[in-house]
Amino acid sequence: MRVSFDLDEVLFVSPDYMETEPELRFPLNRMFPERLRKGTVYLINELQRRGFEVWVYTSSFRTDVYIRSLFRRYGIHFDDIVNGYRHKAEVQKDRAITLPQKMPSHYHISLHIDDEDAIIANGKTYGFKVLRICEPDEHWTDKILEEAERIRKLEESK
Ligand SMILES: [Mg+2]
Repeated sequence: MRVSFDLDEVLFVSPDYMETEPELRFPLNRMFPERLRKGTVYLINELQRRGFEVWVYTSSFRTDVYIRSLFRRYGIHFDDIVNGYRHKAEVQKDRAITLPQKMPSHYHISLHIDDEDAIIANGKTYGFKVLRICEPDEHWTDKILEEAERIRKLEESK
């Protein structure tokens, strides 16, 4: 089963008001200024250890290479990445109707993690599952692991 993560405000957070993973060493911290929410390394590795595929689904235009290189420094290897370019090429294409900025269902992603209300609303309209994570939340990794397990059970019982 596939689980995807938004980047901005979910995995990438500001150290000014949230606990973060240790900063990379100079000069890597200049090449990759984003800071990871504390618990990211454990969570992604734990999901994969439990047999989930973990994807990034971001509407940002950071490249696949950039995202992979940054996370590799933390020992994280995503199964796949959808960025703004890929979404445009594979989901939106030349459709006359503007689709939501994320369509996890297009990639058979069973659970998407995001901070934005618009994505939660789109999930209801277009029928994909979203778990909202935003504010500092010391139980965020447990919430995601529980929700992923819950959905996996549901899917297995179908
Ligand atoms: Mg976001």
